[in-house]
Amino acid sequence: MKSIREADVKGKRVLLRVDFNVPLSEGTVTDDARIRGSLPTIKYLADEGAKVIILTHLGRPSGIGFEADFSVAPAARVLGRLLGAEVLVSPEVTGEASQQMVDALENGQVLMLENLRFDPREKKNDVEFAAELAKFGDIYCNDAFGAAHRAHASIDVLAGMLPHYSGLLLDKEVEVLGAMLESPERPFIAILGGSKVSDKIKIINNLINIVDKMLVGGGMCFTFLAAQGYDVGKSIVEEDCLEDARNMLAKAAEKGVDIVLPIDFVVADQFSESATVAIRGYDEIPSDMMGLDIGPASCELFKSVIMEGKTVFWNGPQGVFEMKPFENGTRKVAEALAANKAATTVVGGGDSGAAIAKFGLADEVTFVSTGGGASMRMVEGCELPAIVALNA
Ligand code: ADP
Ligand code: MG
Repeated sequence: MKSIREADVKGKRVLLRVDFNVPLSEGTVTDDARIRGSLPTIKYLADEGAKVIILTHLGRPSGIGFEADFSVAPAARVLGRLLGAEVLVSPEVTGEASQQMVDALENGQVLMLENLRFDPREKKNDVEFAAELAKFGDIYCNDAFGAAHRAHASIDVLAGMLPHYSGLLLDKEVEVLGAMLESPERPFIAILGGSKVSDKIKIINNLINIVDKMLVGGGMCFTFLAAQGYDVGKSIVEEDCLEDARNMLAKAAEKGVDIVLPIDFVVADQFSESATVAIRGYDEIPSDMMGLDIGPASCELFKSVIMEGKTVFWNGPQGVFEMKPFENGTRKVAEALAANKAATTVVGGGDSGAAIAKFGLADEVTFVSTGGGASMRMVEGCELPAIVALNA
């Protein structure tokens, strides 16, 4: 993979694929993290005198042409503010109007094409659509780590049509996650959580090959406890994953990887902020209650394991952190990660990223991945279509 820093971009039309799939509320961007993520690449290109043509998808339009609710215009306004420069927006994806705007670009100017998904051919990895986009550029650069796991036209076939490079954000993501998976400093500790084991089976199976210890909290630990014969009351259990859980425990034992489960829980009589709560050991969960967070003794245990690590990866909230009474376990894990300054600490996953930001600790860890799905695919050990295309 060649980094855009290796390209001579001055005066060149650079097609820059970013992931500006930002949340919108009444036409306003409510979280600009993804825009900030690619800002260094955009600034770099503009400063080097490239004509920057930005491509992104946004939300899930119907794929029947322009729909005002899914226009990239609000994202372009935020980008313009962050750049301190005008960002033009074309009224369509490909076509004559876009061509004219591209032709009129001056060095250092920034143009955003409309939402790629207004054209149904984007998601179909369509060669003709990619060729229409390729006509607008001399160079292709992919900085859309958040969409790197999707084999869509602007990510996959388009890369092969032009000299292709990775952007600075994509470089950073691949470097941090790649080094973590391929040559981690040891001990390597993984902390997993989240609601469902079924979402995380591949991740756990791959990490068992790599890590020294794995802490498992969140909703998914109840399937592991149930698989060992414990009564977990009304806690969330995936019956059809019990076998998988037993297999993972056996594989971990075989590999000498410790799977550490919580020893106590915050249990509640209902899934609600106003539930009646209590602290109970893992082997004393009342039959009419459910575990919605790890308990204080588990927090201490998890913290001590996290502090042992030289590499620590965290994916998955430890409890229902969206509700105040059940946020403590997730907060304590985030704090332990932030406190271990001797380690490379990496956070992956949409909800985990949101959690660490909510606790104000995002800047206290080594790296928070911007790509929920893409980082998870990498941790699963899968190749990402974007990276395959950039390496070709
Ligand atoms: P990520 O997006 O970081 O990969 P997930 O999507 O796997 O994380 O899981 C996040 C969800 O898991 C949160 O909405 C949280 O409320 C839920 N969760 C965590 N612990 C529990 C629990 N004990 N019972 C039910 N849901 C839980
Ligand atoms: Mg999630």
